[in-house]
Amino acid sequence: MKNNEQKVMLTGVRPSGNLTLGNYLGAIKNFVTRQAQYKSYIFVADLHAITSPRDPAELRIAVNDCIAMYLACGVDPEQTIVFRQSDVLEHGIMGFIMTFQTHMGELSRMTQFKLKSQNVGKNGIDTGLFVYPPLMSADILLYNTDIVPVGLDQQQHVELTRDLAQRFNKRYGDTFNEPDVYIAPVGNKILNLQNPTEKMNKSDGPNPGTIFLMDDLKLVRKKIMSAVTDSESVVRFDEEAKPGISNLISILAATTGESIESIEKRFVGHGYGEFKREVADAVCNLIGNIQTKHQQFKNPDVLDAILTAGAERARIVAAETLNRARVALGLK
Ligand code: AMP
Repeated sequence: MKNNEQKVMLTGVRPSGNLTLGNYLGAIKNFVTRQAQYKSYIFVADLHAITSPRDPAELRIAVNDCIAMYLACGVDPEQTIVFRQSDVLEHGIMGFIMTFQTHMGELSRMTQFKLKSQNVGKNGIDTGLFVYPPLMSADILLYNTDIVPVGLDQQQHVELTRDLAQRFNKRYGDTFNEPDVYIAPVGNKILNLQNPTEKMNKSDGPNPGTIFLMDDLKLVRKKIMSAVTDSESVVRFDEEAKPGISNLISILAATTGESIESIEKRFVGHGYGEFKREVADAVCNLIGNIQTKHQQFKNPDVLDAILTAGAERARIVAAETLNRARVALGLK
């Protein structure tokens, strides 16, 4: 049994576009507020970014941007091991091993696969889209992770990771720690402001319904003020009947820490305009602070030094776990 100081937290983000408010509220914020309580790892999931073809130069820039954004959001490289997934080669081999523990049916049932494979191009579905969940399991299991803070869309993949760890341990002997998912009670699925039945996605590109952490603050305000609502004028949380207003309430609650009930009470008798102004103030305040810090962390030498040190520390643990798995499998 691990004691609390040895407990491990890990999360990652794909460098597949600029980070959004959804990435921050759903995953990064929950990591940052807990990083001191755990042995913490955060990585840029660049192998997950090549599951579909990517422009290499653009990918290199996206990786650095993502690291700078982690730091701007409060990730502390003194406390947390920050690394690039592809720098630790063990992820590839472990991903291979975990793929072989997985049933086709399990992967076919993944909601993200079903959603993303709806819009396939003329070449059909990329295999990467199908097999990335066991690579994600490898990412988690390599570090003996106890807790994985992610948004709701990734819950199923962390649950699959638990199943795969159990399956492997049963077949080959106790090898992997079984991780738990951490889903924040509020802000775990931030929706597109123009289409509040769809998740806010960074891969959607420039979009009036998506708030990017690097958006100009005037644009952020404009996006919030023109968010789709409904024909009532009651600020009430009801995801079925009022998805637009409920999404804005979640954003305000997750950004400020105020409860949903308290927000509902404060806005009794006030119109949507006033409510949206307050949401815009809170989000601009948050994003403004992140952008100021982001400026300080753009130096590529500083980022390289953090990634080199992070990869060295990550590799030690990843190599130990991979070695354990190889011995268990009879590969060593
Ligand atoms: P991705 O953008 O798919 O690389 O996701 C990185 C992390 O952000 C994962 O933990 C996701 O679950 C989380 N995330 C992404 N989009 C949202 C969203 N709209 N609301 C809440 N969490 C999100």
